[in-house]
Amino acid sequence: MRIRRLKLSGFKSFVEPAELRIEPGLTGVVGPNGCGKSNLLEAIRWVMGESSPKSMRGGGMEDVIFAGTANRPQRAFAEVVLQAETAPRDDGVREELEVVRRIERGAGSAYRVNGRDVRAKDVALIFADAATGAHSPALVSQGRIAAVIAAKPAERRQMLEEAAGIAGLHVRRKDAEQKLRATEANLARLDDIMAGLD
Ligand code: ATP
Repeated sequence: MRIRRLKLSGFKSFVEPAELRIEPGLTGVVGPNGCGKSNLLEAIRWVMGESSPKSMRGGGMEDVIFAGTANRPQRAFAEVVLQAETAPRDDGVREELEVVRRIERGAGSAYRVNGRDVRAKDVALIFADAATGAHSPALVSQGRIAAVIAAKPAERRQMLEEAAGIAGLHVRRKDAEQKLRATEANLARLDDIMAGLD
């Protein structure tokens, strides 16, 4: 997957709508301390479905909304749009992907993929299958290198699974196991009903 464009509005220090084009190759973000470099990386993780306020350096998820300054009022919502191209299919064609996450004060987050409302889980699966995502080792934030070195074997295995693009399979396996258990319970109930009819 190639990230092409990132649009932010009301997200952390990006109070005014801002748009960044990400060209093929290496992209560097430079600027003085506190200008919002880490906020950009957090915006990418957030639109990919990050659900932990702590890993967004906040106390609650609404802390990603512009909180206001001495001369600017706070914002009521934050929105991040990520435009990407998927990995080439067998016929070499790349598909356009647009993911939008929006949070409003008191109303929580909503996601859209290519214009359709979806669940957080659907967004997480899209990125997990593409071997990226909010917790992917492809996004390296400050302090993460030390964390990789100090990781326990189970954590390191999780990183490798994410890098290999199989993390989404675990979610699907859990879903399938839940469906299986529900079906088994239904079958047992059916047996009871049939026994009652005899
Ligand atoms: P450094 O080089 O020091 O790591 P940086 O360029 O990575 O800095 P960030 O950490 O991305 O900077 O940005 C921090 C800035 O974002 C701070 O000025 C902080 O006040 C501002 N900020 C964070 N959250 C919000 C928010 N919800 N509303 C308004 N401003 C915010």
